Amino acid sequence: MFTDYDPGYEQIRSGVGSLCEKFPAEYWRDLDRSSAYPTQFIDALTEAGYLAALIPTEYGGAGLDLKAACVILETIQRAGCNGAACHAQMYIMGTLLRHGSETQKGQYLPDLAAGKLRLQAFGVSEPTCGTDTTRIQTTAVRDGDDYVITGQKTWISRSEHTDLMLLLARTTPREEVVKPTLGMSVFLVDLREDVGSSVTIRPIETMINHSTTEVFFDGFRVPAENLIGAEGEGFRYILDGMNAERVLIAAECVGDARYFVTRASDYANEREVFDRPIGQNQGVQFPIADAHMKTEAAALMVEKAATLFDDDETCGAEANMAKYLASEASWSAADVCMQTFGGFAFSTEYDIERKFRETRLYQIAPISTNLILSHVATHVLGMPKSF
Ligand SMILES: Cc1cc2nc3c(=O)[nH]c(=O)nc-3n(C[C@H](O)[C@H](O)[C@H](O)COP(=O)(O)OP(=O)(O)OC[C@H]3O[C@@H](n4cnc5c(N)ncnc54)[C@H](O)[C@@H]3O)c2cc1C
Repeated sequence: MFTDYDPGYEQIRSGVGSLCEKFPAEYWRDLDRSSAYPTQFIDALTEAGYLAALIPTEYGGAGLDLKAACVILETIQRAGCNGAACHAQMYIMGTLLRHGSETQKGQYLPDLAAGKLRLQAFGVSEPTCGTDTTRIQTTAVRDGDDYVITGQKTWISRSEHTDLMLLLARTTPREEVVKPTLGMSVFLVDLREDVGSSVTIRPIETMINHSTTEVFFDGFRVPAENLIGAEGEGFRYILDGMNAERVLIAAECVGDARYFVTRASDYANEREVFDRPIGQNQGVQFPIADAHMKTEAAALMVEKAATLFDDDETCGAEANMAKYLASEASWSAADVCMQTFGGFAFSTEYDIERKFRETRLYQIAPISTNLILSHVATHVLGMPKSF
């Protein structure tokens, strides 16, 4: 299980742990310095079958549940590695699995499971609409056997390291639908084809090594057979995927938080100042104990959300709460770890500053803390919506 108390996932935990040992801190430090993609790490995870965890066995995957995927990502982060380069493959797959046609699944899933294809990019965010996804401007207009895509996406991570992208575009203008969440559709976009000048990908320089990009579509043609499910229902389909995404990213945050708590307590035991370990001072040890408790409480919520998801139960509230609590726990553990290491936390060779930067992302992406607070206030507690 996701907490350490259930031995059910021990084999996965130890398998992923051994794989991560082959990718020590220097590997991640070098990539961070050169803003490079962790190709070898991704290849190793793919070869070992971990990225096909959620693909059913009939398509060549491992047929595991979301809890198992959580264990994989949590173990990666806890080991000091970074699953951000691959986590999308796990949650994007859900939209194809749940809403794709048999033909689409037969065409793509076996190659994804075998590691011959990568589905690593999720194209939702746009520069002008922010979190209000119903206002996306990218359009897909039917023309014969194709849809013609025009628009700009931003923050689309791993676009340069994927074969396929799951893309959300408007097929009916917002003004012409009864509900703003209708009229958007999801497409499986094949970036391997000769896209010519109709797709332009521009990397965005960021404070973390995340391979994120802007993507411009200028009359890009996607065969109509690559539409997933029914036209206009795309928002509903990606919401399913978003719940999985929130739970998986929450699991990563728990892994980060455990990494920081371990690093902080080890250092507090080793570092001697005033002739005693700094961890002997309660001013140093209490914040670490506090971070540990917040982490383990968040892990329980992640486990609850993953269990509901696996049982096909409604899990929107729990997925959001898990993501909120786990990202708060990892950020507070990161801050405590920085403080515990003192000046050495700023030295790249200790890796704390890099992990600190990396875990900060999860208070903003894939959904910001304010939007989760708003979801819980209005959808769970029944208070009026402010927007
Ligand atoms: C490194 C990185 C990688 C990413 N990867 C992807 C990706 O692969 N695919 C993808 O589609 N997107 C991706 N994103 C985008 C990410 O999902 C968005 O940045 C995130 O959802 C927040 O949207 P925004 O940046 O437009 O913020 P905005 O919506 O502009 O919000 C800005 C701030 O205002 C607050 N705010 C806005 N409205 C309200 C309100 N009504 N009440 C209270 N507070 C409010 C928000 O909480 C936030 O703090 C990535 C982002 C980053 C930084």
